[in-house]
Amino acid sequence: MKNRWSESDAAAFVREQAHIVNADLALRIYSSRLQGLEPSLVLHGGGNSSVKSYYNNIFGQSVKAIFVKASGHDLANLTPAGLPGIHLERVAKLQSLETLDDVAMVNQLRINLFDAQAPTPSIEALLHAFLPAKFIDHSHADAVLTLSNQKNGAELITQAFGDQVIILPYIHPGFSLAKAVAEAFAAQPTATGMVLRQHGLLTWGDDAQSAYTNHIDLVSKAEVFIQNRVNLQHLDHDVDLAKAKKEYRSLAPHLRGALALPSNNPDRPYTRFILTPIINNKYLRIINQDGGRDLLSSPPLTSDHLIRSKPRPLWIENQEQIAQAMESYRKEYSEYFSQHSNRAQTSYDTSPRVAYMPGVGAVCAAKDSEQANIVRDITRQTMNVKNCIAAMGGEYFGLSDADMFAMEYYPLQQAKLDAEEPPPLAGSIGMVTGAAGAIGAGICRELLANGCHVAATDLPGDPLDSLLAELKKEFPGRVIAVPMDVTNPCDVTEALGQIIDIWGGLDIAIVNAGLAHVSSINDMSMEAFTRLQSVNVEGTLNVLSATGKILKKQGTGGDIILISTKNVFAPGANFGAYSATKAAAHQLARIASLEMAADDIRVNMVSPDAVFSEGQRKSGLWAEVGPDRMKARGLDEAGLESYYQNRNLLKAAVTAKHVGNAVIYFVTRQSPTTGATIPVDGGLPDATPR
Ligand code: ZN
Repeated sequence: MKNRWSESDAAAFVREQAHIVNADLALRIYSSRLQGLEPSLVLHGGGNSSVKSYYNNIFGQSVKAIFVKASGHDLANLTPAGLPGIHLERVAKLQSLETLDDVAMVNQLRINLFDAQAPTPSIEALLHAFLPAKFIDHSHADAVLTLSNQKNGAELITQAFGDQVIILPYIHPGFSLAKAVAEAFAAQPTATGMVLRQHGLLTWGDDAQSAYTNHIDLVSKAEVFIQNRVNLQHLDHDVDLAKAKKEYRSLAPHLRGALALPSNNPDRPYTRFILTPIINNKYLRIINQDGGRDLLSSPPLTSDHLIRSKPRPLWIENQEQIAQAMESYRKEYSEYFSQHSNRAQTSYDTSPRVAYMPGVGAVCAAKDSEQANIVRDITRQTMNVKNCIAAMGGEYFGLSDADMFAMEYYPLQQAKLDAEEPPPLAGSIGMVTGAAGAIGAGICRELLANGCHVAATDLPGDPLDSLLAELKKEFPGRVIAVPMDVTNPCDVTEALGQIIDIWGGLDIAIVNAGLAHVSSINDMSMEAFTRLQSVNVEGTLNVLSATGKILKKQGTGGDIILISTKNVFAPGANFGAYSATKAAAHQLARIASLEMAADDIRVNMVSPDAVFSEGQRKSGLWAEVGPDRMKARGLDEAGLESYYQNRNLLKAAVTAKHVGNAVIYFVTRQSPTTGATIPVDGGLPDATPR
């Protein structure tokens, strides 16, 4: 592993930060970030670091302080706010206690903070406080776990590091680990580091550079040691990547449906997950290898993975076996819970977060794509380390069920996961056709604002690209653009396949793509009529049919909304092609509501009038009718908008957001309604559905 320390960068960083923090803290931040740059050292909030320095209190006195990385903060982008300062002498005294439970420990950490608003320091803060060294670095390095998580781990660590490194067996992080670490160090004060089995590596030094360099040196030694003992011959078998990808596309909705949790809410009966797959040659080989199942079904590498990965993954032999495998998984998890829990604890849900399937790959699940990507990174690391152990001819030695339970149900760890009430569409995946138009863009925005993951689809080109760029800024990680021509059934199937590849399924489809055309019946060209029919009717049928199949396969219901029009109820002269084709689409959606209700798939319509723009984005309707009507009525753009506004009962300007709100009413299932239409038109008596 490369030692990234640079004398000049470190000095420059200290100068840059001088007006905010002292040199101790600046160097602490500098070298923590160097550690954070190595994914094989720390991942997503893993690892931590500390420095002992001084704090100037309100009386102008300099007080001994320890600054420890806050729980859940990342080393890679650590800032002074992520290094809360604690009164060192007060927390050091805690070492004289026999025991201290986790809740009391956090209370002690919090009441001894210098800043009452500071985030809670790491659960390993006392470990840092009880060790005398000024700078302490701690990681869960892959190479160290590769040695520490083997049956003869202690022997291997001594062979790799010599006797300058202390080895501790696994101890639950918190007060007891902090005490054990301090005692082990006191017994061997010349040691330069410590390996905590099934956990990670600690190094220390009088200055930031030596603590960091000790760390990199030991990890490098472990890497070389492993390199010389690894035999990767067992990974040269052929795998069929194309077949794996194809099979994943077909099975992901099944798997996602089986993972969904009953919510006890009859209106929205399931809580769903977002899936992120790992499908490539390397990992297929790891999963497919002889003994792959035993190797990968073993406990996680470290206990901090538990809140993301659960104690065990799900193993699926083939697609037909998903339901049965899931049932046994849930049963086993419930047994594990009842065996280890006390009466005061409530079980978490019983869905696995990682599934392996030979010939297909690994699948990671979480409540949103950002968290599913964290599970994916942890799963890749887990496969790499476990595979490396197998390649050394070693035997994996993980945490016991009791140790896993103690950490999984550790209140402080759980606090790392978002405790806020999720938004109404969290875990849901929606697709919007014609997304690059004014109404489509407005609907995408409302779905995203309600927590949905959104695939914006439209013909390929600038409008779709610029919409994606705009929405990504506001809702990073939850929006993708998928080019699609609704008139081509293969295109629709392929686009839905791409959504499944990325998130695992679909729950909401907004059928919005449409074309308008102004012509009297006498002058109607068949070419124009056919063009509208192909988008407005065939396009609607293609999307209804393709999404209906996926929703049925998933088995957790779903919502389809057709963006209809007031012209279905109150057609206008010279608008025959539009009114007739939209009426056909409307009727198809009503039929779909009859056919799909048994699967709890609700199909409803929203019927807007005269939405011409959303921000800078003009609607297709505007492009078709706006300029002509302005001319015919002798109005400018604002004048035409107010003309439409004045023709409705409420004298309301109808916006894309209003249409989005009506969509949200249906997709959040505010009432048990299907086959119904909400007009969004300010009140047009002729166009009120009846
Ligand atoms: Zn740790």
